[in-house]
Amino acid sequence: MKYKRILLKLSGEALMGDKQFGIDNNRLMQYAREIQSIHDMGVEIAIVIGGGNIFRGLQAAEGGIERTQGDYMGMLATVINGIALQSALETLNLKTRLLSAIKMEQIAEPFIRRRAVRHLEKGRIVIFGAGTGNPYFTTDSAASLRAIEIEADVILKGTRVDGIYTADPEKDKTATKYSTITFNEVYEKGLNVMDLTAFTLCNENKLPIIVFNINASGNLKRVIDGEQVGTLVNF
Ligand code: UDP
Repeated sequence: MKYKRILLKLSGEALMGDKQFGIDNNRLMQYAREIQSIHDMGVEIAIVIGGGNIFRGLQAAEGGIERTQGDYMGMLATVINGIALQSALETLNLKTRLLSAIKMEQIAEPFIRRRAVRHLEKGRIVIFGAGTGNPYFTTDSAASLRAIEIEADVILKGTRVDGIYTADPEKDKTATKYSTITFNEVYEKGLNVMDLTAFTLCNENKLPIIVFNINASGNLKRVIDGEQVGTLVNF
């Protein structure tokens, strides 16, 4: 087992499956089973989930909703996804805690770093909801921040592409994949791994990132086993 404590970042959009909006139940259960497979290995798992399948502040701002209001709506969307993921994990008899960056006591515990770490030590899967709790950030930034706070060994960014490419592989057929790349190379080549705020936070705090395809069954476990899956961003 290569990593003992991980932070898994799932985008909200990934939860849509083939739908245009919202949550696809099959996809949700698929992710829950992938997470279960690494929990069974004894990995301590924290998860940050996005909200793009429901609401994005920036897009809402283009439609006339004030940006900060839209961002709070986006943060609430991440809590909706967090509840759904929590409930999917619990159907597999996994112990979970949802911790929110915005207080909503009936639904989630408030985010307290020491408490999050304690849950992880006890083998509970911790889901961080409501992003950073601040507008003008993304859930990628929340993932970097929380990963550093809980001293995770790595951020695993689960996406629908299987790593970082020289160009967007969905648009450019000649694009090739990196198996490893350094933080400096990502800056120099202007590649898009995470937004720059999130990426820089990882760089400055020496936190490696692995970008991999979460939709391929068994991939998450392969990453934990140390197999060459996706792209590793390192120093
Ligand atoms: N958001 C925010 N602050 C945060 C995290 C998220 O304001 O710390 C808002 C922002 O409007 C964002 C939305 O929540 O667009 C959903 O998050 P994100 O776009 O990161 O989700 P993903 O792309 O991963 O589905």
